[in-house]
Amino acid sequence: MSYKFPVPTQGTHTRPFWEGAKAGKLMLPRCQDCNRVHWYPRFICPHCHSTNLEWIQGSGEGTVHTYAVQHMAFGPWAEEVPYVTAYIDLKEGDRMLTVLRGVDPSKPEEIRIGAHVKVEFEPANDDMHLPFWRVVEG
Ligand SMILES: [Zn+2]
Repeated sequence: MSYKFPVPTQGTHTRPFWEGAKAGKLMLPRCQDCNRVHWYPRFICPHCHSTNLEWIQGSGEGTVHTYAVQHMAFGPWAEEVPYVTAYIDLKEGDRMLTVLRGVDPSKPEEIRIGAHVKVEFEPANDDMHLPFWRVVEG
């Protein structure tokens, strides 16, 4: 399957994430001073403003914090509606926005806040694999 959507730009400060994604690992930035994980990758910790950051391998597990069924979209996403976007509470802390998989957008009442999800990676091209989250239990 060829990936038809625009892909993010890779920068030096996000390279560990993309290298991990290509290997099927969810890499997360963590502050070595306050020990908190943050998402998205930044040059300073959003919690304590330290620049003493490291990358850790996350569990790839989380829970649904909230979700929305998208009924209208533009560009290449217009052909995909309806689909579900969600904020995932990462097991290690902070949240990640995603397209949620393993759910039926026509039955939003079946999507449960707090549902257990796991990350999966899909190749967008030879250099980039993108993370998506899938509900693994109701
Ligand atoms: Zn910090």
